[in-house]
Amino acid sequence: MKYEAIVVHYGELWLKGRNRGAFIGRLKDNIRIALKGCNARMVDNRDRLLLYFKDEKSLNKAAERLAYIPGISWFGKVALTKNTIDSIIKTANRMFEKSDTVRINAKRSYKGTKFNSYEIVSGFIKKSKGLKFKIDKDAKKELMINVTKEGALLSSERTKGVGGLPVGSSGRAVSLLSGGIDSPVSSFYAMKRGLDVVYLHMHAFNNNKQAESSKMKNLVEILSRYSPSSKVYYAPAYVFQSATLKIPRKYELVLFRRFLFRLAEEIGKKEKATTIVTGESVGQVASQTIGNMAASQHGIEPIIIRPLTGFDKMEIIEKARALGTYEISIKSYKDVCSIGVSNPSTNMNERLVSKLYKSCKLDLALKRTIELMSCSKN
Ligand code: ATP
Ligand code: MG
Repeated sequence: MKYEAIVVHYGELWLKGRNRGAFIGRLKDNIRIALKGCNARMVDNRDRLLLYFKDEKSLNKAAERLAYIPGISWFGKVALTKNTIDSIIKTANRMFEKSDTVRINAKRSYKGTKFNSYEIVSGFIKKSKGLKFKIDKDAKKELMINVTKEGALLSSERTKGVGGLPVGSSGRAVSLLSGGIDSPVSSFYAMKRGLDVVYLHMHAFNNNKQAESSKMKNLVEILSRYSPSSKVYYAPAYVFQSATLKIPRKYELVLFRRFLFRLAEEIGKKEKATTIVTGESVGQVASQTIGNMAASQHGIEPIIIRPLTGFDKMEIIEKARALGTYEISIKSYKDVCSIGVSNPSTNMNERLVSKLYKSCKLDLALKRTIELMSCSKN
């Protein structure tokens, strides 16, 4: 085997002071779940984690999955060897090809060895005749050597992780997921900040089964790479729609948002989720004015976070492309369409929304919608 292990670095988790243990514990649990079937042995190694594998196939599979786990700042495949200059050189020889030119970067996390990091580099220079590859301090390829108490770790590539915090370390959230471009991206950013996300989707189908087998399933599949488990609540929109038939269309969108928040609040009680996540971005569309946001969220107890607030639409699209959700989001979909009116009111106030909510008997509609709701797990 070229590499025996993967080294995982936590990054921001180091800032967490006394809670550090809990954050790292959570991350390790999430890694264990993600690497199921890879037969990884996990060993703490000071400020990093080492994952040992029995075969290269499992190691490569694990490397693919680690790229999706929030809380990991970077990781790299490593070859392990004894803490002697000779065995470090021997191991380096199996990592590179004849045609490679490599720069050596040595450091010691453990200072108890007889040699220092400068002597590692000079050891390579002295033995350059026995090396398979060339060394040059300006080379693009790099051999990173880290001497630890347990032995030397050799690596040549670092893969950037998601960063952020382990899913679950910030509690649980209900994420409002439409079939559009924005809410998959906001769900990702919520997970990145440690929220364990449960999704709520309101659909325009006649029954939940149709929604469950729609493109929403594909969207959730992509998002669930980032989280140990994913739950989706599917609720039909027709109860809301028939309750609001008589009101002017321009008010419907903000009322729908209030209804979504109320539904998310009820799901939150069941799921012990104290946060709601939406893909709104200030002023992006007529309905997303600060005034409308305030009117729609009035009286909602959970904190509502809008991770995309500082993003332009093009930036959101760029991120959606990188996540792989964009192509699914733009596929045609049976949206909750009558609600997408072209001229929504841009400045609704809380009193008007509450009055309409009451006159349309949306409390009753909410009860009925909860009865009709289904929940599926990914
Ligand atoms: P998106 O691209 O996420 O649909 P958008 O720019 O189209 O966002 P709106 O349609 O106004 O904006 O919706 C704003 C937010 O409300 C969405 O990002 C999402 O969080 C939530 N939302 C909208 N429609 C639904 C729905 N049918 N089910 C669940 N949440 C929804
Ligand atoms: Mg939308």
